[in-house]
Amino acid sequence: MAKNLSNKLLQFLNKIFSPKFIRSGSCKQCGQCCRKITINYHGKFLTERYEFEQLQLEQPRYKNFFTTGKEDGVLVVTCKSLGYDNKCKSYRFRSLYCRIYPRIKTKYIAAGAQTLDGCGFYYEKNVTKSQN
Ligand code: SF4
Ligand code: SF4
Repeated sequence: MAKNLSNKLLQFLNKIFSPKFIRSGSCKQCGQCCRKITINYHGKFLTERYEFEQLQLEQPRYKNFFTTGKEDGVLVVTCKSLGYDNKCKSYRFRSLYCRIYPRIKTKYIAAGAQTLDGCGFYYEKNVTKSQN
């Protein structure tokens, strides 16, 4: 009886706290995530080069990036620390953003968002959660 109860409690806790989606796969060192960066500033993606230049003046750390064009109307920048071999030249000192990539908010994954084309990581439904 007590075992049944603790199993049910574990199932309940699992249902509440386990993530809806899990990240699988591994890095293929394609460099896309360092080459195709979009910048969301105050809830809006930058679309114009002058906006990025303004941001670089306000926050000098953005000087480590340069614009490379647009995708779907959104400005794309590349990191200057990316080497020709697709390896990070500042690996030991890379930012938290670089360290946690690719992490996508659950609401975006639920709406169909995925990692960049060619990325070795992908998100899938957490089967354990949906079974409970
Ligand atoms: S896009 Fe994905 S596979 Fe390519 S370097 Fe970044 S994390 Fe690795
Ligand atoms: S600092 Fe390194 S890991 Fe981060 S975006 Fe630049 S090249 Fe990529």
